[in-house]
Amino acid sequence: MHNPGDVISYIEMCLTEGTSLQRGMNFHIKPAYSIILMSVRPGAPYSDRIEDDGRLLIYEGHDVPKTKDGPNPKDVDQPIRHLGGRLTQNGLFYEAAQAVRQGLSVDAEYVRVYEKIRDGIWVYNGVFELIDAWQEHDGKRNVFKFMLRLLEIQSIDNSQAAILDHNRFIPSSVKLEVWKRDKGQCVICGSTKNLHFDHIIPFSKGGTSLKSENVQLLCATHNLSKHDRIE
Ligand SMILES: [Zn+2]
Repeated sequence: MHNPGDVISYIEMCLTEGTSLQRGMNFHIKPAYSIILMSVRPGAPYSDRIEDDGRLLIYEGHDVPKTKDGPNPKDVDQPIRHLGGRLTQNGLFYEAAQAVRQGLSVDAEYVRVYEKIRDGIWVYNGVFELIDAWQEHDGKRNVFKFMLRLLEIQSIDNSQAAILDHNRFIPSSVKLEVWKRDKGQCVICGSTKNLHFDHIIPFSKGGTSLKSENVQLLCATHNLSKHDRIE
């Protein structure tokens, strides 16, 4: 099981989830949770953003599929339903969020978030809960927005109760800067395997997620030995 901040390959991500992840939005793909894939790299197809010092993710819904003779997907409203009437992924996430807001459901949908930072390089951002959803006009058309809050205790069910290691969600721009600066290697031993984005000064001790100066790449071994020293 991965911890938030772990760097993984696409294959590892699919192996972990036991499924081939082709789409960005996967509502309730597992009995206990959904999965979304995000990217805020330059040229990324959707505008996802991070708020509240790395605790909230505002995730954009997805467009109609591109078809040969159809309109440019970026020119039309993001759909809530397919032509046949079934809910799209936007619709499924939207209805789940509304059910919680309106008190029809007590349990927010749990969502695991993976983020692409470069081709073939992904980061596990942790388990979030889906707390709100709305539609807004982006200047050209209506898009969906989903608000997800990082869970303090990273537990989807009783089988995994990893406490979030004094982490906050690290903004993508910071992750990219750190990845380049540290050359995709553990800063201590140079390993390129099992890497993790580590807060140099933990959040609980006043460290920030928002500056690359406070974030470094560590391999699993050096990440663990550091935490043994601090805690
Ligand atoms: Zn190392």
